[in-house]
Amino acid sequence: MRRRILINYVVTLILSALITGALAFYFIESSYLDSKEEKLKTNINLIEGILQDNYKSKTKVNFFRLAQDLSLKTNSRVTFIGIDGWPIADSINNSIIFDDHSYTPEFRNAIKGDRAVVKKYSEEIGKKYSYLSIPPIKVGDRDVILRLGDSYDEVDHIVEEFVRYLVVATFIGILFAITISYVSVKEIVKPIKELTIASRQISEGEFDKKINVHTNDEIEELSVSFNQMATRLKETINQLKDANADLDAILSSINDGIIALDKENNITLVNEGVKKILDIDIKGMVGQNIIDALRDIECIGQIEEGVNSPDDFYTEIKIEGADTKYVSLATYPIMKDARSNIKNGQLLIIRDITSIVKAENMRKNFVANVSHELRTPLTSIIGFVETLRIKKLDEKNKEKVLDIIELETEKLKKLINELLILSKIESIKEVRDLSKVHIVDDVYEVLKLLEPQIKSNNIDFELNIEDKLNPINGDKDLFRRILINLVENSIKYNNTGGYIKVNISNYQKGIKLVVEDNGIGIPEEDLPSIFERFYRVDKSRSINREGTGLGLAIVKHIVLYFGGSIEVDSKLGQGSRFTVKLPN
Ligand code: ADP
Repeated sequence: MRRRILINYVVTLILSALITGALAFYFIESSYLDSKEEKLKTNINLIEGILQDNYKSKTKVNFFRLAQDLSLKTNSRVTFIGIDGWPIADSINNSIIFDDHSYTPEFRNAIKGDRAVVKKYSEEIGKKYSYLSIPPIKVGDRDVILRLGDSYDEVDHIVEEFVRYLVVATFIGILFAITISYVSVKEIVKPIKELTIASRQISEGEFDKKINVHTNDEIEELSVSFNQMATRLKETINQLKDANADLDAILSSINDGIIALDKENNITLVNEGVKKILDIDIKGMVGQNIIDALRDIECIGQIEEGVNSPDDFYTEIKIEGADTKYVSLATYPIMKDARSNIKNGQLLIIRDITSIVKAENMRKNFVANVSHELRTPLTSIIGFVETLRIKKLDEKNKEKVLDIIELETEKLKKLINELLILSKIESIKEVRDLSKVHIVDDVYEVLKLLEPQIKSNNIDFELNIEDKLNPINGDKDLFRRILINLVENSIKYNNTGGYIKVNISNYQKGIKLVVEDNGIGIPEEDLPSIFERFYRVDKSRSINREGTGLGLAIVKHIVLYFGGSIEVDSKLGQGSRFTVKLPN
């Protein structure tokens, strides 16, 4: 820009120097020639007077001397030409090759009586001349035409000088122009430079950039508009950012995986849910084709089928892994706008349905388990009732059979009781029945109840209970159930001569209950499942240890209902420790 302005300056200067030079040259030449013409006219009148006064009646005239005399007086070239056109004498050249002058314009003018100045190049002398002739007059005994000439060759010299000065002046002018233009261009370019820098910064996201230009011209107007534009841009971008942040917040708070696709199945949007459900890195997914982006996913076949299906698509997929997952996949079309029928892309919704599928499986298993657990004692009871009816048994054997029937009925009753407790706790949706209860007395009563069992198994028992035990937010009967089930298990899964330690202390505002034994322990791989309904660790080790597999499930449900937590530490062959924390 600076160079362009400089070139413009210099070109303008050269052009104006040329035009000024040409005009000046024309003016100088024409005024110079005018003055020459005036001089010729004055001189010729003077000479004409002299000749008429002094030479009209002279008989012998030396024309050469006369021409030279007159030339000295007038400082002009003086030529006498006969009326036949042949020159008689010339002041500057007395040995000139005299030519016929009858064809020359000045001669013809003279003959015609026309006193006009003729400008021409003199071949004999090699210079430019202005000539003026007068009609024939009598000089001595001859009729002659007087011609006066004045060289204007020096006009060329003057022009030459003029051009030299003009070139020097132009050169100095160019130097001035460069200096002035450098300074002024710097001033002009400064605000433009500022604008350029500011627009670059804005394009890099610095919308607070403002330009302060006070040039009082279009550049100031431009900078004002520029500042307004930057403010608007900032507002618009902030609005867009807010809208985007809202959308981001909404999308990331949705647990389902959401992927939006354009018409070419390229990803235009993806949320955190996809990362959580499919366990993949979603960074850089936007812009990629869905199939490329998810090619490592096990269910890519179904995803491909879904996104390529012409209608809404739904399928459920099992993803094998450390934790087997179940996900549902659904696709919905994205319309161009609310009213149109034109499909602009589609939405892929991925939902983690593991808990739903597991609950469903659990429900199926539960029914199967309950049926199985009920059928076993029932079959046995039916069998023994048949025996009683058909076989003629003596009193002793009859008693034995009736004892077995009673035992099986007890088992059945226990199972049904536990099922009832479980379903009762599960059906409680609210915790409004809970209240602050002190459980010290209940602890002693439960342990008194269990004492015979402990003693008959020859087990050492130790109870530690904090003096001022905090109350808990719960229900006395349900608390008793927790303690009974845990201590009964410690008796059941203990060895003769083993020990059980029950420790109850204050924990935060509630209590901590620890039931510990050095019994048979639980294998590590079974630990995560022991709180599930009907889960029993390896039935073979439970021979002689009657159970329903519902005890710990009941404990866990009560603890959760109380808002507490339960943990188990156990080593096979070394014993188990159950820790229950119950809040106030
Ligand atoms: P069960 O009626 O079989 O005792 P539970 O739900 O009470 O059912 O217990 C689930 C399983 O956990 C039991 O089958 C048993 O193998 C194991 N278990 C529970 N408590 C203990 C314990 N104190 N020591 C060792 N194993 C235990």
